Amino acid sequence: MLSVPLQTGTADDPAADMAAEADPAPRPGVQPHGWLLVLDDGYRVLQAGCNLAELCGVAVPAAIGRTAEALLGRPAAAALEAAVEDSAGGSITPVQTRVETPGGGLNVHLQAHWGAGGLIVEIEPWQMLDLGVASGFLSAFGTAIRRYHAAPDVLSLARAAARDARILTGFDMAAVIRFDAEERPELIAQDAEPGTDPFAGRTVMPGIFPDELRAIYTLTRLRLVSDTEAPMVPLHPPANPATGLPLDLSRAWLRGLTPLLHDHNRRAGVRGVLSISLVVGGRLWGLVACYNRRPRIVAPPVRALCEAMGEIVAAQIGALAERAVANDRVAAARALARLSQSLRASTDLARTLWEERQRLAVLFDHEALDLRIGGDERTDGAASAATRDALLTALRNRALDGVVAVADCRLLLDAGAAPEDWPGAALFMELPHAGHLLLTRGRRGPWSAAKQEAAHELHRLLAERGAELYRASAEERLHRLAYFDPVTELPNRAHMLRDIQAALAEDRHPALLVASLDRFRTLKGSLGDDLADRLLAAVARRLAGCLGEGDLLARVDTGEFAVLVPEESGADAATRLGSRIREALRTPVALDGRDLFVTASLGLVPAAGPQALPQEMLRNAEIAAFEAEASGGGTKAFEGAMRARLTERYDLYDQLRHAVYFGQGLTLAYQPIVNLADCGIAGFEVLARWNHPERGPVPPSDFIPIAEETGLIVPLGNQILVQACRQIARWRRMAPQRDLYLSVNLSPYQLDGAKLDLPRWVQGVLEMTGAKSDWLKLEVTESGLIGNAAKSVDVLHRLRRLGIGLAIDDFGTGYSSLSYLQRLPLEALKIDRSFITEMDRSEQGAEVVRTILQLARILDLSVVAEGVESRSHLERLRALGCARGQGYLFSKPVDSQAAEQIVCGREPWIS
Ligand code: C2E
Ligand code: CA
Ligand code: CA
Repeated sequence: MLSVPLQTGTADDPAADMAAEADPAPRPGVQPHGWLLVLDDGYRVLQAGCNLAELCGVAVPAAIGRTAEALLGRPAAAALEAAVEDSAGGSITPVQTRVETPGGGLNVHLQAHWGAGGLIVEIEPWQMLDLGVASGFLSAFGTAIRRYHAAPDVLSLARAAARDARILTGFDMAAVIRFDAEERPELIAQDAEPGTDPFAGRTVMPGIFPDELRAIYTLTRLRLVSDTEAPMVPLHPPANPATGLPLDLSRAWLRGLTPLLHDHNRRAGVRGVLSISLVVGGRLWGLVACYNRRPRIVAPPVRALCEAMGEIVAAQIGALAERAVANDRVAAARALARLSQSLRASTDLARTLWEERQRLAVLFDHEALDLRIGGDERTDGAASAATRDALLTALRNRALDGVVAVADCRLLLDAGAAPEDWPGAALFMELPHAGHLLLTRGRRGPWSAAKQEAAHELHRLLAERGAELYRASAEERLHRLAYFDPVTELPNRAHMLRDIQAALAEDRHPALLVASLDRFRTLKGSLGDDLADRLLAAVARRLAGCLGEGDLLARVDTGEFAVLVPEESGADAATRLGSRIREALRTPVALDGRDLFVTASLGLVPAAGPQALPQEMLRNAEIAAFEAEASGGGTKAFEGAMRARLTERYDLYDQLRHAVYFGQGLTLAYQPIVNLADCGIAGFEVLARWNHPERGPVPPSDFIPIAEETGLIVPLGNQILVQACRQIARWRRMAPQRDLYLSVNLSPYQLDGAKLDLPRWVQGVLEMTGAKSDWLKLEVTESGLIGNAAKSVDVLHRLRRLGIGLAIDDFGTGYSSLSYLQRLPLEALKIDRSFITEMDRSEQGAEVVRTILQLARILDLSVVAEGVESRSHLERLRALGCARGQGYLFSKPVDSQAAEQIVCGREPWIS
């Protein structure tokens, strides 16, 4: 490292005072190469340096009280008076004049300023500048300025300045010292005569420029010490007679260093020191310091040039700094744009950030990086794990808005010393799921505004993209869970229905073949679940081997498979597939050393048939397979006549119509919906009940489809709504303190605007019954929304605007896409009972419920679990954070009287 003997020295430097106390002889004085006088406003001497006799032959104290003219002669006194008068209270221009004394004369440079103690006059011998040397200076100066303007950065500017300062002054060495963000001196450039480095081997002493000293350097921009070894000349009298205090020499040219710093420089071998302040934007940015092994007096014109050079270098530093800030911003914006592009395209944020760490470094200029995203941890830096963990904990506690910029990491420590690898400054971004991005550097100091803005922007990008990816992965997991059968890994019923739907929507006419394993339920009972599942998997593999191109195989029920055969495969492709399947099943399946024979009955819906609904097509194929099995196996194609065997449905229809229009036998049951946290009542689901005059109770799963097929659902649904609204209005009056609601099932047919303007009608019912819109919720199944999507969605939005909460019923069993659901104005989703039941049986079941709850959180939906039948269901759902539930554990659907008891605070399930 290079050596810089640092010049300093003020009269009130504490170091100087200490030295003065240790040795009473040296007093604050002036350098011996010049003379100092303090005059009153009549130009009479108040105080003078003790070397005065060398100038004018009159020693102190004899000189005190005499006039300047008497001591210095007429020309010098006149020049001084003229300069003072010209100044009119401002700064006094230095003059060249001649001191004339009886003993001879001396050309001098005379400079004066007003201080608290009087007019301080400083006189130095005038040095003639050799003309050649002077023009050399001037042309060097001209080139220097041009070079400064061309300097690309601060370091090359500093190198040029050091070189020029050395040449200009003729000193042995010049250095540029910069104060860093914490005002510590830092040597950034030096120049010595080629082949010599007179002051090698010493370092910059930190702390050598205290605040007061830097303040003085900011005020007076040039200082010269001609000889560090020359003893200072004391003043006589020591105290200023005008103020009674030691004279304030802070603006005096001749003022020297403190004894301590004289010593410091001497030990470095320095005799002459010239230092030029570099003041940028009012702050002392640094110094150009020139050092010489021999004593040096620098002629005033050269000093003036040095001062001008300092100004120009400082101005250029300012311009470069501004340009650097602007460049930084442009580079940051560019790096950020690229980074954002990569992140948006990325599916693995940790890896992308890692690969882009060069770009990050352009943005943040950090030295170490540590990141953790979604369990992926990467680190690029020297800190130990202990340090990193302590740092992360401290930062996390401060991350209010997710980003923390720390200028000095020592402040993060509660107590005790910082570990060796503790960084200087840190930039921390908190990411979801306990992730983070931590950038550190060894150097302390604030992060620029541009870097902090970039950090916020990057944080926002990461959070956004992270959420997107998280949602996509959850969606994909749910998709697998919802559309595939874990036993055979084939698509499931919902998948098949969706594919039929897609084919029909494109006006293609696929054929459908259902293969139902004969008496499978019985077989399953005797084999046990495990073996039965393995049998199914084996059968699935055989069936898969029979498929033609474009065929889709799915497992659509316990022992039932279906194949969708595209139209392009030809008219009898499905029939031929049927033969292949029967052929394939002829060989027994070997499992656990047993040969198992399975046969299948096949039901076929040929391609030509116009099928309105996927459900209907699948059901028709199943009916045909059922007929085939009933008639002893083989294959049957579906015919209308098979439906005719279901004529009893039509009887039912007749009776249902009667019931609807004459209000006979239709009632409502209410099933409590419970807040899982405390098992308190939240509301009721309204369920239709039909008590048939001859058959007794008919389950809704029988009569609702009939009502839907025949259009009866509209008047039926209307009646249910009116009755439900009356009921809730009454219950809210009875228990105003409870936030009860009723959840009414809505059939997709009721959303069909051609039959009914539902929102308008609902509004009328609310007005008529005095029920409020937020007491009423409506449930729709997702499959119900698929057919006439656009129109239903519009109706749903209008209902939502009325203030009615909408829930998706039987969630997970339908076959709508999540992105589609996201567009619906939903408030809640009800997890289908089958998933709750499955939760206790398999990991997969529990996983579905967990995933649905995660999704609900992402989509900001509340959740009701259906079919809560056991304590264990309740505990699991609570643990997963599910808010509400309904099911036999709490209560079966009950009639209105029993429900009223519950409303009045008798919740039988709470013992
Ligand atoms: P859903 O809307 O899913 O209704 C829940 C069904 O699950 C009800 O059957 C209820 O009694 C039953 N359930 C409730 N908790 C449990 C439990 O813990 N375990 C078991 N095993 N079952 C439970 P329900 O009343 O037979 O209704 C069947 C379906 O009929 C309903 O399914 C709904 O889709 C339809 N439905 C019922 N009432 C109406 C109505 O007023 N309008 C319309 N459009 N459809 C209705
Ligand atoms: Ca329901
Ligand atoms: Ca349901």
